[in-house]
Amino acid sequence: ILLTVFALSFLAVRRATGRMQAAQTALETLAGTDPLTGLVNRRRVLARAEEEMERLQREREKRPDAPPLTLLMLDIDHFKECNDTRGHLAGDQVLREVAARVLACTRHYDVVGRYGGEEFLLLLPTTGFPEARAIAERIRRGVAQRPVELDSGPLTVTVSVGVACAGTRERTLAPLLQRADRALYLAKQSGRNRVAWVEGENAHD
Ligand code: GH3
Ligand code: MG
Ligand code: MG
Repeated sequence: ILLTVFALSFLAVRRATGRMQAAQTALETLAGTDPLTGLVNRRRVLARAEEEMERLQREREKRPDAPPLTLLMLDIDHFKECNDTRGHLAGDQVLREVAARVLACTRHYDVVGRYGGEEFLLLLPTTGFPEARAIAERIRRGVAQRPVELDSGPLTVTVSVGVACAGTRERTLAPLLQRADRALYLAKQSGRNRVAWVEGENAHD
């Protein structure tokens, strides 16, 4: 009898533990997800970026010329106007559609996060400058090429993209983020609906 009781208790505990683990995983996913777009949220994309920087350091200890991590900072152009003329719900619809189009232009190992209101941060691991710029351009075109169909009629949406690449001696994320942000600012300054980049401490960056 004792043996049966023990076996049943063991099975019950094992099942409960499994359920708790599944619930924990679901909660963690939820905590890292932006509810509007389904992308990872700011907190999670930054955590992933830190992880990628650490992975790059380890890789570079083995292979100094290991391909770098590149960031794309992306912001919807004149989004306030979209909210003002079409309404906030239409704005939300635009955000979802832009997120889907951006995602469709990336590779499965890239990370696309909603960084702020209408700003997205993309992590492109093992991607050098020329390739990253081509991806950024593909994304820019992918968003602009056909209007977003809203209830109030079609609306052409464009994005500006800033590109920055982790330098060979770069250890921390902050300067890389700053360069991506500065590049985005340049893209806006030079007329929007374009890709701009800021190079790091040496030409290779
Ligand atoms: P720029 O081309 O310089 O980026 O101009 P902009 O109008 O896009 O920039 P601005 O930062 O002035 O406006 C961003 C707007 O995004 C303001 C805010 O109301 C809106 N926004 C932020 N989050 C959301 C959201 O979740 N849903 C909607 N509909 N709007 C949002
Ligand atoms: Mg904007
Ligand atoms: Mg903005």
